[in-house]
Amino acid sequence: MRHVLTDNFRAFSARIGADPLQIQGPGGNTSMKDAEIMWIKASGKELADAMRAEIFVAVDRRAAEAEARGAGDGTCKTTVLDPKIKLWPSIETTFHAVLDWRVVAHTHSVAVISHVISPEGRKVAQEKLADLDPVFVPYIKPGRPLTQAILERITPQTRVILLENHGLIVCGETTAEAEALMQRVEERLRRDPVEVAPTTPEADPLPGFSWADEENWLAQDEAARARVTGGSFYPDHVVFLGPGLPTADNDNSPPAILVPGVGIQLRNSATPTQAAMLRCLSDVLRRVPADWEIEPIGHDAEAALLNWDAEKYRQSLAVKG
Ligand SMILES: [Zn+2]
Repeated sequence: MRHVLTDNFRAFSARIGADPLQIQGPGGNTSMKDAEIMWIKASGKELADAMRAEIFVAVDRRAAEAEARGAGDGTCKTTVLDPKIKLWPSIETTFHAVLDWRVVAHTHSVAVISHVISPEGRKVAQEKLADLDPVFVPYIKPGRPLTQAILERITPQTRVILLENHGLIVCGETTAEAEALMQRVEERLRRDPVEVAPTTPEADPLPGFSWADEENWLAQDEAARARVTGGSFYPDHVVFLGPGLPTADNDNSPPAILVPGVGIQLRNSATPTQAAMLRCLSDVLRRVPADWEIEPIGHDAEAALLNWDAEKYRQSLAVKG
């Protein structure tokens, strides 16, 4: 099979993958296409590994585009070209397929997320990126619903897409073009994080848990605590840590528990990705000014991400009251 991936593209993917302010764990994805083939990051793989492992899978570009527009089930699993390969394409493959640019890169940028979870932040981002004609897409579940929402808003010239409560997409004809555009967005939306003192609580954590490090401020600071226990702000948080941050160990065995006024304890069996998502929450909230309102994705969206029955989930929340 023709391999269209360039070393530049792999190196770019690895670079953004290694930056926790752009990518956390297996989040985000990059793609490169030619007339018929699109190489896309495989589901569950990490961009950080792009130089040392095969993290990309080749799909039939036109078949993936057809899935984006309603054919098949939207997973693009049947569009994988090599039947022997044991990788599935990313859940976000369909939007890569419909963006008619050779290189597409999608990150869960902390700088972008800290703007797009807030109405005031979105206004600031619109002003700072005005010359790049950014398209804003309201939150919707990743996969074909998100791809369709993108399709409804873009023009053939669109190269910067801000996914509200989610992240960033940039497009280019070359890797260098896409990377330069991504850097411009990052530079313009970069915010200095508020200083937080890493303090380890003196109290013993629950058995099987350890205190977090710099994230403890989220439990100690009253305003931050209200924010992080009040909802979830972007999809990977929900996928890897569950909804919001729970304040007690419950039947869902959460990987992280917030002890109000004290700190956050992380289960010792938590994965590196779960630890990275906790760090991401702290990184995002350190960059959202206190006077900006922030909007959680809501309980129905949380339930949809976890494939939970939305009605049962609402009932369980009502019981906890
Ligand atoms: Zn994403």
